[in-house]
Amino acid sequence: MRKPILIANWKMNGSLHANQALLVRLLTKIRPYRKAMDMAVCPPFPYLFQVRDLLGYTGLALGAQNASPAASGAHTGEVSATMLREMGCRYVLIGHSERRSMYHESSDDVAARFRQVRSAGMTPILCVGETLEEREQGRAMAAIEMQLQTVIDENGMAGLRDGIIAYEPVWAIGTGRTASPAQVSETHRAVRQFLEFQEAGGGEALRIVYGGSVKAGNAAELFQLPDVDGGLIGGASLQADEFADIASALA
Ligand code: PEP
Repeated sequence: MRKPILIANWKMNGSLHANQALLVRLLTKIRPYRKAMDMAVCPPFPYLFQVRDLLGYTGLALGAQNASPAASGAHTGEVSATMLREMGCRYVLIGHSERRSMYHESSDDVAARFRQVRSAGMTPILCVGETLEEREQGRAMAAIEMQLQTVIDENGMAGLRDGIIAYEPVWAIGTGRTASPAQVSETHRAVRQFLEFQEAGGGEALRIVYGGSVKAGNAAELFQLPDVDGGLIGGASLQADEFADIASALA
């Protein structure tokens, strides 16, 4: 059985004051759904300490939005996986499309970051997804397979088996456009089959979550799809009531 998981990606939003208000309300609102799923909150790096303290023993896990491909050393501006681990992170987003497109993280780079997160004992959440152009040209799955393959080549299937995949069509992130249930269903199934083909059991056990403009209004129809094991929520995770409604759709 794959336990559902809901992950909040705050992106570069928040302040000490706003985080506290958001989490205090969120922790109350999501109480009825807590046991039905794993939940993680991924704030910007400077707020990890604050969010860790606010989450306390609620069972919500702390996550980070990226980790350096290097272990330590002269990498100004980077944050290492071991530092994140020390801060109490359990999950780290890797290869988010905003990182790939705006900060030019290549697939090899993403694979190295993934390896660092695993070696530090955390769970990488590998984001994969096609651009609009790739979808329109019928190359969506080829693009996703390439992203998965680079990580498998560098880390082996064991690496992926211990992780989580987030399918996030680039054209649906922060745009208000959601992939249709048919598109999500087809892609999640294809990702699972691709991984199953790499190693028997490798795909069936893996959690694959959907991300891309998930809201309270569309969460239920996406989460009821058989290969969707939860969600990676960006914009809507900044509203406690909206996020709690999304959680109720997954519970
Ligand atoms: C994301 O950033 O991972 C994401 C899915 O964003 P949004 O929900 O805002 O589309």
